[in-house]
Amino acid sequence: MTARPTLSGVDGRRLLDRLDELAAVGATPGGGVTRLAYSPEDVRARELVAGWLADAGLAVTVDPAGNLVGRLPGTGPAAGTLATGSHLDSVVDAGRLDGVYGVVAAVAVAEALRRDGVRLRHDLAVIAFSNEEGARGTPGMVGSQAIAGRLTSDDLARPDDEGVPLADRLAAAGGDPGRIEAAAWPPGEVAGFLELHVEQGPVLRAEGARIGVVTGITGRANADILVRGLANHAGTTPMVARQDAAVAAADLVLAVRRLATDGHVRVATTGLVQVSPGVRNVVPGEALLGVDLRDLDDERITHALDLLDTAAAEIGATRHVSVEVRRGPSVPAVRTDPRLAGCVAGAADRLGLTRIELPSGAGHDAQVMAGLGPIGMIFVPSVDGISHSPRERTDPDDLVAGADVLLHALLAADGELDPE
Ligand SMILES: [Zn+2]
Repeated sequence: MTARPTLSGVDGRRLLDRLDELAAVGATPGGGVTRLAYSPEDVRARELVAGWLADAGLAVTVDPAGNLVGRLPGTGPAAGTLATGSHLDSVVDAGRLDGVYGVVAAVAVAEALRRDGVRLRHDLAVIAFSNEEGARGTPGMVGSQAIAGRLTSDDLARPDDEGVPLADRLAAAGGDPGRIEAAAWPPGEVAGFLELHVEQGPVLRAEGARIGVVTGITGRANADILVRGLANHAGTTPMVARQDAAVAAADLVLAVRRLATDGHVRVATTGLVQVSPGVRNVVPGEALLGVDLRDLDDERITHALDLLDTAAAEIGATRHVSVEVRRGPSVPAVRTDPRLAGCVAGAADRLGLTRIELPSGAGHDAQVMAGLGPIGMIFVPSVDGISHSPRERTDPDDLVAGADVLLHALLAADGELDPE
C-alpha cells in the first residue's frame, strides 16, 4: 500500500451554500421543494450542477437517459471507474437533501481532490441520476436502470399517470430515448459505486452515531389481500351471523404487523385498507389490503409471505369470510460490498466520527448500480428521522462530515478495488 496523500477535506461552506442554492430551484411555500423528474426545475438543477462540475475541471456529459456525468481521468489506464453521486429530482413537496446532498457532496469531493493535487488511479465519475423518485407514477430509478443497461423500450413506451410516455418526458428534458442503449456502461467498467445519502430514518440519531455504514438495501415484496364476506343490514344482522370483511381486515392488519414484531421480517406495513361498500349502516362485504414487507434477506420475506398465507386461512375460517393473498411484484435485497463498507468505516474512524452499521429501508440508485459492480452507501443522521417532507433536516456539521467521509472512503477504495 502506498502512502496516503494528505487531504485538507471538502469546502464545507461551499457545500452548504450550494445546498441552499439548489433548495431554491422548485422551492415550495412551506420550505420544501418540488422538482419532479424531467420538469423545468429538474433540468435547471442539472444545469446548475453541470456548471459546478465543469468549473471543477471535470468533463461533463448528459447521457441519453438524462443522467449528468462528470469525469475526472485517473492515472491507471485499465483501473476502471470509481463512481459516486445520487439524484436531483424530488417527490412533491419534498425535503431539500434527499438525493441532492449526495450529488453536491460528490462535486465537493472532486474539487477537494483537484485542489490537493490528488490523482486517483481510477477514473472518478460524479453522477446525478435522472428520475430516481418515479415522478408521476413512473417506475423510478430510471437513470440508473439505463446506466445498468436495464431500461427497455417497453419502459420508455409506458405512459405515466398523466398519459405521457416516459420517452416523451425524457425527450422534453434533453434526453434521447431513441439512443437509450448508449446510456449503458460497459460491463467491467465500474470498480465501485459509493452513494452518500441522508438516512431518512431515526436510527443514527437514536444511537448517537454520526455516520451510518450501510450493510445493504432491503428487499421488498408487495401483496394484495382480498377479503370477501357478505354485505348486510347493520341493524338487523345479529353479531354471530355476520360475515364482516372489515373485522377480518382488522385481524389481517394485526397479523401483518406481527410478521415484523415476531421477528420474521424487518418491517411489515399494511398501507392500504379499503372496505366496501364503505357506509356506516352496512356490514362491510369486501375489503382490500395492500401489504409491504421488507428485509435484507429475501428468503425471510418469502417465509413471511408463507406465514401470511397461513394466518389468512385461519382468519378466514374464524371470521366466516374468504381471504385470498395475491403476491405482487418484489424487489430483491442488495448487500453492500464488504470492502467498500470497510473503506467507509475506516474513513469515519480516521475522522473521529462515531459510526454504526445499518441497512437502508428505502430504495436507492445504488441498488441498481449493484448490477454493474460493488456498491457502498454512507448515511448521515436525519433530524427526527423525517424525509419526503419539507421538515427533512440534517445538522450542517453532519452534512460536511459525511462529505469528508465520502472523500476519504473513495481514496481508500481507489487503493483497494479493481474491476472484476
Ligand atoms: Zn434519495
